[in-house]
Amino acid sequence: MESDSITVLESDSEPAVSLTASKVKSKSTHRKSGFTSSWQKNYPWLLYDNEERAMYCKLCMRYGNLPRNGSGKWVKVGCTSLRHDKLLKHTASAMHRDSEISSHEEARASLTGGIRGALEVPINEERKAAIGALKCLYFLAKNELPHTTKFTSLVYFSINMGCSFMKQLRRGGNASYRSKQVVAEFLFCLSDCIKQKVLLTMRNSPTISILIDESTDVSILKQLVMYGRCIVDGKLECYFF
Ligand SMILES: [Zn+2]
Repeated sequence: MESDSITVLESDSEPAVSLTASKVKSKSTHRKSGFTSSWQKNYPWLLYDNEERAMYCKLCMRYGNLPRNGSGKWVKVGCTSLRHDKLLKHTASAMHRDSEISSHEEARASLTGGIRGALEVPINEERKAAIGALKCLYFLAKNELPHTTKFTSLVYFSINMGCSFMKQLRRGGNASYRSKQVVAEFLFCLSDCIKQKVLLTMRNSPTISILIDESTDVSILKQLVMYGRCIVDGKLECYFF
């Protein structure tokens, strides 16, 4: 009976064989051949080439995972055994499992990127607030105002004047960025930045001289004063540091 005959198109290791109804014991052992479009719903990785009448795995193609027997099946050459059990076999294969792991890792990495993206906004706000605080401190230092005592009130004043991003400086008790220690650190960063620029300019000068003296600051505290003289573009410059 022709309708009951099953043709196995091509097996991975066995030659094509034709089974007759007499050789098939029951319907449960039937291996239907021929591509079924519903497979693509159940196996999203499945790619069917109509011309070749062959099946490929999009996932294994994407990650370049090849079968260990070197045949390149599912990736370089299609699987021409259009049978459901071939799909099951490929799903369970080591190459496909590797591809699935790679896919999950990629998805997880993109998720991390999403979280990082979400965190970027608060990080930027904090950065903006820190820059605002540095500007406040720079203003106080530049105008010779008592920076340690006036810094906090200047920050509050800036918030009252509409600089809402400065509220980010209130983050937590131990990270308020308003303590005397933080003010000193900010000041050190500002002075270090200026000092590095001065040192770089002096290093580029063909000749330098150092002037050292003693003076008192606004709080009548004795301070060592250092000036550096150097040549910039043929002109004599004097820097305080
Ligand atoms: Zn695969």
